[in-house]
Amino acid sequence: MPPAPRSDLPCGGLDLGGTKIEARLFSPGLDLLDSRRIPTPTGGLDALLEAVADQLHWLEAASGQGAALPVGMGLPGVIDTGGGPAFAANLPVGGHDLPGALRQRLGRALPLLNDAQAFALSEARGGAGDGAERVAGLIMGTGIGAGLAVLGRALPQIQLAALEVGHLGWPARLGDALPLLACGCGRSGCFETLLSGPGLSRLAEHRLGVAVPPEDLAQRASHDPAAEAVLTLWADLAAELLLTLHLAQDPQVIVLGGGLTRLPGLLDRLAAALAPLRLGPLPLPRLALAVFGDASGARGAAIHARDLAPC
Ligand SMILES: [Zn+2]
Repeated sequence: MPPAPRSDLPCGGLDLGGTKIEARLFSPGLDLLDSRRIPTPTGGLDALLEAVADQLHWLEAASGQGAALPVGMGLPGVIDTGGGPAFAANLPVGGHDLPGALRQRLGRALPLLNDAQAFALSEARGGAGDGAERVAGLIMGTGIGAGLAVLGRALPQIQLAALEVGHLGWPARLGDALPLLACGCGRSGCFETLLSGPGLSRLAEHRLGVAVPPEDLAQRASHDPAAEAVLTLWADLAAELLLTLHLAQDPQVIVLGGGLTRLPGLLDRLAAALAPLRLGPLPLPRLALAVFGDASGARGAAIHARDLAPC
């Protein structure tokens, strides 16, 4: 067993996204003390490093701890922590050694965590997965991302990728009901093409002839059986991805996050779709909605940095 996670220090987290960099300061008990949001600069890597440094220095000053404050950063994409090139959609880090550039600019450690991993860790520590030994997080929003926390910790990441399950192909047993669409990753038939928010709209377009946004589709489903059938098909697809997480990673709980969790009755719909897929007597994981929502990226990164802080 690893040592118990630290809980004696305040900590700070940065959430780096395509449009904003959010800084959040937490008490030793992980209560939110203060936050500050600035736009993500569009001027390239140097401007980005400058903005990250600005947020880091604000956290250090606001905490009264200076550079002793553990701070981590969550971000989307794939980063080679060994110094290789980075890739993150909507961020000017492509091809750069981001961890090295941050170290040089900041003069201190800034542990990085994929945002889906940060989400899983945040929910495993005081969130919807609190107390479970293995917590998977599945984010269904503009894209699909997943992460795993084990014994309340983020897994060590060699390449800063999460569980990139959105780019697995959906199973043939779903038959001809689904359109085979090109994915942003360069292949076709990925879960993400139909399961994300834009994916659900595409599925509606395929079945109804018109692209309906998810929230309108849910409203329409209450009186239109064809719209309801689209949501049922989407839930069958989501259940296949939940089954994949279950069989491959063995989580006790799968916490759901992202914009599509606002679909009414989502948990019941997904549980009903998952139940028939159960493999023999294997108990299925519990499904739960995220507690921390949009705060998870910064909160998970802060917890991760504090766990790595020297005693
Ligand atoms: Zn893909």
